[in-house]
Amino acid sequence: MTERRETAGEGSGTPVILVVDDDPGIIRMLQVTLQRRGFDVLTASSGQEALELVDREPVDLVLLDIMMPGLNGLEVTRALRARPEEERVPVIILTARDTVRDKVTGLELGADDYMTKPFNGEELVARIRVQLRLAGMDRAIRRQNRELAGLNAVAVAVGRSLDVPEILGASLERMTEVEGVAAGAVVVWEPEREILTLAVERGLPPALRTAWYEQPLTTSPWGAIFKEPGSGLLEDLAAAPDPALRIEAGGPYGNHACVPLSAKGQTLGLVHLLSRAPHRFGAEEMRFFAAIGQQVGMALENARLYHHTQQQVSQMRALYEVSSSITSTLELQEVLRALIERLLDLLKVDRCVVTLSDVTGTAGEVVMGYDGSKPMPWFHGIEITLDRHPEVRFALETKKALQIPEALQAPLLTTVRSLLAPLHVRSMLIIPLLTKDRALGVISLSSLREPRHFSEGDVEFCQILANQAAIAIENSRLFAETKRLASTDELTGLFNHRQFYLLLGQEVRRALRYGRNLSLIMLDIDYFKAYNDRYGHLAGDEALRQIARVLKTRSRDVDMVSRYGGEEFSIILPETELPQATVQAERLRVAVEDHNFSRGAEGHLTVSLGAAALAEGMDRPEQLVHRADQALYEAKAGGRNRVCLAAARVESP
Ligand code: GH3
Ligand code: MG
Ligand code: MG
Repeated sequence: MTERRETAGEGSGTPVILVVDDDPGIIRMLQVTLQRRGFDVLTASSGQEALELVDREPVDLVLLDIMMPGLNGLEVTRALRARPEEERVPVIILTARDTVRDKVTGLELGADDYMTKPFNGEELVARIRVQLRLAGMDRAIRRQNRELAGLNAVAVAVGRSLDVPEILGASLERMTEVEGVAAGAVVVWEPEREILTLAVERGLPPALRTAWYEQPLTTSPWGAIFKEPGSGLLEDLAAAPDPALRIEAGGPYGNHACVPLSAKGQTLGLVHLLSRAPHRFGAEEMRFFAAIGQQVGMALENARLYHHTQQQVSQMRALYEVSSSITSTLELQEVLRALIERLLDLLKVDRCVVTLSDVTGTAGEVVMGYDGSKPMPWFHGIEITLDRHPEVRFALETKKALQIPEALQAPLLTTVRSLLAPLHVRSMLIIPLLTKDRALGVISLSSLREPRHFSEGDVEFCQILANQAAIAIENSRLFAETKRLASTDELTGLFNHRQFYLLLGQEVRRALRYGRNLSLIMLDIDYFKAYNDRYGHLAGDEALRQIARVLKTRSRDVDMVSRYGGEEFSIILPETELPQATVQAERLRVAVEDHNFSRGAEGHLTVSLGAAALAEGMDRPEQLVHRADQALYEAKAGGRNRVCLAAARVESP
């Protein structure tokens, strides 16, 4: 089909009437009558010629004679009605034949009206006007239906998804399916980068793709539309302010329509559509596009809200998990593992390392590191100097999160660039582990190869998790200290009485379960009262400390030396039979006897020792203590400064 001009019925211009008659006199008369009434007139002297004209020229109405050589009027009517509905042209049959049968046939074939010759000019014009008005209404209804169908298609397409790229893709697809649309694109506003970015396009010429890509608002020719909700732009491509658009003028495109994608008075992006030449978008289409823009904007907003909610849910879950791991365990490793796993999961970074700073503030120790989802245990315990990690030092000193989008270009890291390059670190986020008054260390998150920009929300959330973790680190340090205090004797640093019984209980159970040997030595300083009396209590305290050190240094690592109370000590010897225990007791006795008390203590001291081994019939720690005590008593009674071993018989304490 050849290109047709727009019909005048679209709202503007003079209606064009095609007069078809084989009588030149009638044609002439009709031409004069109609032109005088302000119509444009085309003429055809045969049915064949009329059909060709309708295909070629815009015609708003056909005045048709019936009796013609070749195709008669009824056949022409039938042919016109066989054309697509959208191109329907009203037909008025004008003939000398006035049998009812002719009229009925004409109307049945799809003619819109019927007049007989000779006709009255006034009546003919009135009837023409009625038909033109009906045709206009028909077109309007058709267009509205098309628009409603289009809007519905967009609504269905975008309502089905909560995925932003999918929504944009589907909506643009529907929009470019609208009649007269040649190409289109959706650009979205990226608030974090303050830039308009091409999200999707269909049929867009390459020159425009770059023109619509990565545009800041200030330089974008559509900045004004973006800033003013409810506005739009309809421009001639030849006069477009953007040079890239002008290049395309006179090409396959007519004009350019731009409408905002908006929701709740906020502009989220823009929709651009180019008409297919010779079609040009009009005000009606702009209204339609604007409606679509709002529809898609709403879908976009819904999707964003959904993702925001999803993100908040997973953040809350992460916070909950980290917090509960903090309250459920005081083990630092557990807390750090929970923290790192949540961070990796939420931020999808490649590497996560936790470093705790030492008291001097010049070095730190890596306490946990993960590569992807895998722990890197070989990293643990590695000492780092802050000179070689300026990013860690910066976060520790400023007590603020530090974001480095391009590690190799960051001025802060110039001095360590050569160290960084082989690690392939592209972007970093360093979060300090803050307690009330101090930065305990940092969490370093890094993205390898891919550049990464962390949103303000992400950074803020990491800081919340890090603060939680910092509390946990502090707690676990306090806990470890408290635990140490609770189990140690303050004066000597040995296990205390309470811890001695805990350990002995464990060892007795273990020995009984696995049929292992277990011995115990009880030790009491000889005439210590006299020592105190002679040298004073402070010297006595120091002597206790020094004896404790002698016992500790002369015992195996597996042996557990405790201060039982006052000037009495005990040594648990796992995997040890009585004869070996006796040998060990004798070694300790000699070591104390040979010790030179100095630095606050003086003189000489000796000790008496009783050794006992776990024997058949014993199932409680107290029984073993009792036996060793008995042996100790024998050593005292036997003259002191000696070792006695318990007889191999079982007694109740
Ligand atoms: P024996 O040879 O019979 O064991 O005589 P002893 O004097 O060592 O025994 P006794 O039980 O009569 O006295 C124990 C002394 O140990 C009494 C107490 O003043 C002293 N003593 C206990 N604990 C401490 C302590 O923590 N510091 C000091 N300086 N003296 C202590
Ligand atoms: Mg005593
Ligand atoms: Mg004593």
